[in-house]
Amino acid sequence: MKWSPICPADLEWQVVDGIDIPVSRQFGDVYFSKDNGLLETRHVFLAGNDLPERLSHFLQEAKTPATWVIAELGFGTGLNFLATWQLWQQLSQQIDSAHGHLHFISIEKHPLQRQDLARALACWSELSDFSTELLAHYPSLLAGCHRIVFAQARITLDIWFGDAAVVLPQIQCAHKVDAWFLDGFAPKCNPEMWAEARFDEIIRLSKPGTSFASFSVAGIVKNALKKHGAVVTRPAGFGHKREMLKAYLPFETIQDTPVEKHVSMSSPGMLLSKPTPIQTVAVVGAGIAGLCCAYALARRGIQVMLFDEQPLSGASGNPVALLNPRICPIEQVAEHLLMVSWQFALDFYQQFSWVKSVAISQWAKHEGQHDRAVKARAQFEHMCNWAQSYPKTLITIDHVSDNAAFHISSIAVYPDQIAKCVLDHTNIMTVPTDIHHIQSQPQHCMITDSLQQQYHVDAVVLCNALAARQMNMPYVVPPLRAIRGQVSWSQVSPALDIAEQIQAANYNGYHVAIDAQHLLFGASFIPNDESLELRLHEQQHNIRLLEQHSPTLASRLVPDTVRNRAAIRAQTLDYLPLVGYSEQAHVWVLLGL
Ligand code: SAM
Repeated sequence: MKWSPICPADLEWQVVDGIDIPVSRQFGDVYFSKDNGLLETRHVFLAGNDLPERLSHFLQEAKTPATWVIAELGFGTGLNFLATWQLWQQLSQQIDSAHGHLHFISIEKHPLQRQDLARALACWSELSDFSTELLAHYPSLLAGCHRIVFAQARITLDIWFGDAAVVLPQIQCAHKVDAWFLDGFAPKCNPEMWAEARFDEIIRLSKPGTSFASFSVAGIVKNALKKHGAVVTRPAGFGHKREMLKAYLPFETIQDTPVEKHVSMSSPGMLLSKPTPIQTVAVVGAGIAGLCCAYALARRGIQVMLFDEQPLSGASGNPVALLNPRICPIEQVAEHLLMVSWQFALDFYQQFSWVKSVAISQWAKHEGQHDRAVKARAQFEHMCNWAQSYPKTLITIDHVSDNAAFHISSIAVYPDQIAKCVLDHTNIMTVPTDIHHIQSQPQHCMITDSLQQQYHVDAVVLCNALAARQMNMPYVVPPLRAIRGQVSWSQVSPALDIAEQIQAANYNGYHVAIDAQHLLFGASFIPNDESLELRLHEQQHNIRLLEQHSPTLASRLVPDTVRNRAAIRAQTLDYLPLVGYSEQAHVWVLLGL
């Protein structure tokens, strides 16, 4: 099966005791019990997986960064997730635990539209703090994995929009699932969700001790679990339901998975996720990649040393940065790294002050020669067709004419403000020096700076762009190509009005406002040139591109105020970033962005 564009939930509402109950027209079934959905969730999914006891045990034991994983079939209204969050918060407060991370993975074929989600969750007043947060971060209805990090709560939520048959095989877990919520509508309304192949994947993602809970005791569910060796019981169900399903995988079932040593054998459900041994990390390079990486680690409780002579001295140190996505056909969105990461970035950067919403107009590029112009036009019309399938809040299009454009809702960020915020984190220590040498030892790394000072850490992440090529270390960085770029910015007179300040454009170059008085525009693109000198002809090139796109805007540049900045981009052979690690070397890379 292949990914397909998302079709949202088609709902009918029934009012029971003053509560709006959503009913799926696609499946002809209710999202939660008409008796009381929240109590049902607690009974079937939380108690059914022994979560109060197991999470409490996990939080007591979690002295280092460790992760506990719950996976769910059917995110629906998010009620199960929110009830779990509430329990997690209560336990964290009782136990006074600052460690332990909850990773909640949920799959949804027909996601609710935001307004429906708000309506469905409105009746749970005791969950309102959590549902407000969820609604604030609820993703656009695009296929694929949407990661939301609730850092304060120490929860990562991965909502996968797509059919479970397509999504499950895609999921790779660093930590296997501890508990499953099997909540995909009754098997008689939705047999596809419970097909044998789904259970093969569920078991692949599970380990000895993994538990399962479901409101359904249908043979198709019971038997599939039993076939994989699960021990299945049928305690009393919720409300008018006689039974529910509760199961776990005993320790001897999964032969090829070594049982971790720190298993609590007192109860089959007490298997703990393996705590990650990584507690200290050196991040080399404090551009946007290094800063964001350091921040993500620090928020997980990891102690980070961030090495750079000067943060933001490389290609990400421009006065303003525009998140300008390359949009792909809607059918490819789930697997298109730039779209997936753009979606994540839109949410991620909102936590920093000084993030500005902008509308980017992406203009079709015109070619002089007739047949190339015809081809460009045909391509653009094709793009417009699939762009109609994107949510209107993300992308709209002007009518197809020679001047047609996509209008994309995005953001611009101020790298220096992000740096300030990140460097303030108590788990991040900046070290203003350059690292030259990495020596891997069995359990950790020893790194050496230009003054021969040595540091010991559990792992290293290289975020130092082209400088990674020159590192002396037991790991060969794949080829990176240097691309010089010079951007320009200038005062504008008269100043930009409010509408102009939030309007950016992408043509053969791009422009974006820094503030009411300043416009940034660029940029040159010179392969295999590592010079950082400022060049007048590249400034003129940037101005010329702006003039061609918008003569009126270009005429407002104040001549003697133009400034420039040159930096070197590091580009991989296939233009995709380089992300990964060498296990023996304990060296990770995040390069080529
Ligand atoms: N857990 C949800 C909650 O807390 O509100 C309720 C889930 S509802 C009973 C079942 C959900 O499974 C629906 O949202 C439905 O769209 C989803 N679903 C049904 N078939 C699916 C499939 N093949 N793949 C993924 N999700 C599916």
